[in-house]
Amino acid sequence: MSGASTPLMQQYLEIKGRHQDAILLFRMGDFYEMFYEDAETASRVLGLTLTSRNNGGAASVPLAGVPVKAVGDYLRRLVQHGFRVAVCEQIEDPKLAKGIVKRAVVETITPGAAFADDLLETHRNNFLCALHCIGEHYGIAAADVSTGTFELVLAAAADVEATVARFAPRELLVANGSTLVGIDGVLSGDGLLLTEREGWEFDPSMSRDELTRHFKLHSLDGIGLGVDGDGDAIVGAGGALLRYMRELQPGGLPQLSRPTVERAGSVMPLDDMTRRNLELVESLRRENDVNGAGDRSGTLLGVLDRTQTPMGARLLRQWLLAPLKDETLLNARLDAVAAAGTQSMARRALREALDGTRDVERLASKAAAGRAVPRDLRALGDSLGKLPLVHQQLNAIGTHGVLADISAAWDNCAELAAAILETLVERPPLALGDSATIAPGVDGELDELRELRDGGRDAIARIQTIERERTGINSLKVGYNKVFGYFIEVTNANRHLIPDDYQRRQTLTGAERYVTPPLKEYEEKVLTATERIESRERELFEHLRTQIGNEVVRLQGVARRLAQLDVVTTLAEVASTEGYVRPEIHAGFAMDIVGGRHPVVERMMPRDTFIPNDVQLTDDARLIILTGPNMAGKSTILRQIGLIQLMAQIGSFVPATRARLGIVDRVFTRVGASDNLVRGQSTFMVEMSETSAILHTATDRSLVLLDEIGRGTSTYDGVSIAWAVSEHLHDRVGCKTVFATHYHELTQLSETLPALRNFNVAVREVEDRVLFLHRLQPGGADRSYGIEVGRLAGLPAQVIERARRVLQTLEGDGDHLAQTLSPQTGPARRRPSGSPDRAQQLGLFVAPPHPVLEEMRAINTDALTPLEALSRLDALVKQVRNA
Ligand code: ATP
Repeated sequence: MSGASTPLMQQYLEIKGRHQDAILLFRMGDFYEMFYEDAETASRVLGLTLTSRNNGGAASVPLAGVPVKAVGDYLRRLVQHGFRVAVCEQIEDPKLAKGIVKRAVVETITPGAAFADDLLETHRNNFLCALHCIGEHYGIAAADVSTGTFELVLAAAADVEATVARFAPRELLVANGSTLVGIDGVLSGDGLLLTEREGWEFDPSMSRDELTRHFKLHSLDGIGLGVDGDGDAIVGAGGALLRYMRELQPGGLPQLSRPTVERAGSVMPLDDMTRRNLELVESLRRENDVNGAGDRSGTLLGVLDRTQTPMGARLLRQWLLAPLKDETLLNARLDAVAAAGTQSMARRALREALDGTRDVERLASKAAAGRAVPRDLRALGDSLGKLPLVHQQLNAIGTHGVLADISAAWDNCAELAAAILETLVERPPLALGDSATIAPGVDGELDELRELRDGGRDAIARIQTIERERTGINSLKVGYNKVFGYFIEVTNANRHLIPDDYQRRQTLTGAERYVTPPLKEYEEKVLTATERIESRERELFEHLRTQIGNEVVRLQGVARRLAQLDVVTTLAEVASTEGYVRPEIHAGFAMDIVGGRHPVVERMMPRDTFIPNDVQLTDDARLIILTGPNMAGKSTILRQIGLIQLMAQIGSFVPATRARLGIVDRVFTRVGASDNLVRGQSTFMVEMSETSAILHTATDRSLVLLDEIGRGTSTYDGVSIAWAVSEHLHDRVGCKTVFATHYHELTQLSETLPALRNFNVAVREVEDRVLFLHRLQPGGADRSYGIEVGRLAGLPAQVIERARRVLQTLEGDGDHLAQTLSPQTGPARRRPSGSPDRAQQLGLFVAPPHPVLEEMRAINTDALTPLEALSRLDALVKQVRNA
C-alpha cells in the first residue's frame, strides 16, 4: 500500500494497520467502503464493481463499497466464505466533527463469533474453539457467543481430534507455530477458519487471572481448576479464547455462562470415522444431498430429533456427540425418559407447551448484547409466559432422574415475563419506529405525545373537509410526502378557485401543491410529536432490554432446563412411537440384544418388515466373524449394534425387545474403503491408518465394529491383515468385536481363537435365485453370492458365465487355511511346496517359493554321506530359524 496522501486515507491506513487479517469495512456516510486488496477480494467474492478513488495525488486506490442498509447480506456472505470482517464506524457526529470524522472498529465478525441470525443455524451451536497443549494434556475451550455457552474440556492426546470434532467449530484458535499433529481431520473440515495467536496469550497464569476476573470468581478451585491440578492446558485455552473474543468485541464481551469443566474420561470420544460411518448427525450420502450439510435425513439425529425448541435440538445434538460413560448419570437420564414415557398425557401437554417456545437461549444473549429488536424481546416474553404451564406438566410427570434437578432449579421468571408482556404491544415491529412498540398505558408521557400526534392527524384530515367547502373544489386533497411534508393538492382545472392564503410548494403535471398556515402549524405538531414518540419509545425499550439483559444468567438457566425437558420428552416420544425399550445398563462386559433393529433403516421400510436380530457378546464369546452374501444385511447388523450401544449411552431407549448392555469406553466403526483425497492418502492407506488407530486405542471395554478390512489390496495381503487384526483384537485387546467380512477364510479362525464365534446372515436359494432372509444365524457362510448380485445388477451374461467358471476352478482348490495357519504363521507362507495350485493355473496369484525349499529340491540325497547329510540338515535348520 502506498500513497496515503489525504488525511482520510491516512486514517484508513492507520486503522487497517491494526486489522491486517480482516477485511475492513470503513464507514463513509451511507456506505461502507473497502480499499486496496480488501476491495479486490470483496469485488471477487461479492461481485461488487471495483472502482478507483483518486487519492489526491497520482496514485489511484481500488475501491468497492456497500450501502449501510444492505450490509447484513454482504457481511453474511463474507463470513460464510471464511473471512474475518472488521466493521469501522464513525464514532462522532459528522456535523460536529472538526476535520476528519473520528472512526474506530467497533466489532470484528468471524465465522466463529457471529451473532446475526442469518449467520447461525437454528439447530446447532456455532462454536469458536481454542486448543492448547501442555505436555500430555490437551485443553479445549469452546464458546458459542450466540448462546453464551462456554465449555472447557481436558482431553488425552489420542482423543483430541474426536473432542474438537464434537464441537464442529467454525473457527479454531491455536498458538502460533504449535504442532497440530493428530487433528488434521478437523483442520481439513469444510470451512474451518484457523486463527493463530501469539503463544503468550495461552499462558496459564495470565489466563487464570483472566478467567477469574471475567467470571467474578474468587479462584478457579470452585470449578475444579485449582493451581495444583492438571488443568493448565484448559486454563490456557480458556484465557486465550476470552482475550480473543474481547478483541473482536471491544464494546464488551458477550455474556458467557460460567464454564463447565469436563475431564478426560467422563464422555466417550467419538472419532470422525465412527461418527460418519454410523451416520449419527450427517448422512454418508451427503455429497448427493441437494440441501447440503443441514439435511439430517438418513441419520440417527434425523430419527430422534422431534424436539420442539431450537435449544432442545441443539442439546440433543450435543448429547448424541458426547455419549456418557457413567452408569449413574445414564440411569438418571433413562429414569427421566421412562417417567415421561409412562405419563403420556402430561408428556404431550408439556410438549405442546414447548411447541412455539422460541429460542430463549439466543434471545437472552441478544438482549444482553443489546442486539434484541422489539420482536425478539416479545418472543422471549411470550416464551417465558409459558413456563408455569410447562412446570405444571413437569410436576405431573414426576421428578424422576434428571427431572428432579430440573424441577429443583425451576424458575418461572414471572416478573421478567410480566415486564415484557406488559410493556410491549402484542406484535411489535422488527425495528423500533416502524410501528408502535410500547403498549398504551405504560408511560404517561408517551400516551400524551401519541394523543398530540393523533389529534394533529385528525385536525389535518379535518382541514381537507373545511378547504373543500371553502373553495368549492371537490377534488381537493390533503396529502403528505417526505420532502414537502403536508400539502393541499389542486388540479390545474381548479387552479383559478384557490384562495389567497394558499402558498405554492410544488408543481406537478396537471396539479399544484400548496400549504396554508394552519396546515403548517398542525404539521409541526405532528412531526415533533412523532419524533418525540420515537425517542421516548427507544428510551423505554432500551430500559426494558437492559433489565432483561441483566438477567441473562437466569435466562440461560431457564433455556438449559427447557432444552433438557425438550430432549427427555422427545426421547420418550420417539421411544413410544417407534417401539423402543429401556436398555439395562451395567458396568460389566456383556452385551445381550434381543430383537435388535436398525433405527434408521427400519424407518425407510414399510412398518414391521425389518427383520429383528439377536446379538450376544460375552467374555467367552467376544469376537463375532460375520459372513454372508452381498446384500444379506451384514453392514446393517453391524451398524445397528453400534447405534443401539450409543443410543443407550446418551440415555435413549433402543430399538429392540430387550437389551442388556455393558457400558463401553469407545465405539470404533471402520467401514469399507473410503477415499480421503482431501488428505491426499490412498484408499488403502486410509483403511490401514484407521485400523491402526483402532488397534492402538481400543481397550477391553471398547466395542469394535469392522466392516471389511484389507479389501483395498491383493487378496492374500488382505486376508493376512484381516487374520492378524482379528487375532490381535481377540488375544491382546480383548474387546467386543464384530467383524463383517467376505473372507470366508476367517471363519477358520474359530479353530484357534476360543472366544470367537462365527455367524452368518441367512439366505435361501430358490431354484437359481437367492432370497435374502436378513436373519443372523450361527456358523460361517460358505459362499458370497457375489456373482448372483452382479447378475441382479445387470452385468452382461457372458461376464457372469465366465465368472462362474473362474469361481469353480478357484473353489476346486481344497486347501485348508487353518491347517496351514497356526497363529504364529501367516497366509503369505501358505503355499509350502508342491505343484502349483488352481489359482496359479489360472495365473492369478503366484507365491514365490521359499529359498530353503529351492535348496532342498537341488539336493541329491543318493550322493550324500551321512555326515554331509547331517551338516546340510544343520545348515538348513539354522537358515529356517534365522529367517
Ligand atoms: P454387502 O456385503 O454387499 O455390503 P451387506 O450384507 O452389508 O451387503 P446391507 O448393506 O447391510 O448388506 O443390506 C442390504 C439391504 O438389505 C439394506 O439396504 C436393507 O434394505 C436390507 N436389509 C438389511 N438388513 C435387513 C433386515 N434386518 N430386515 C430387512 N431388510 C434388511
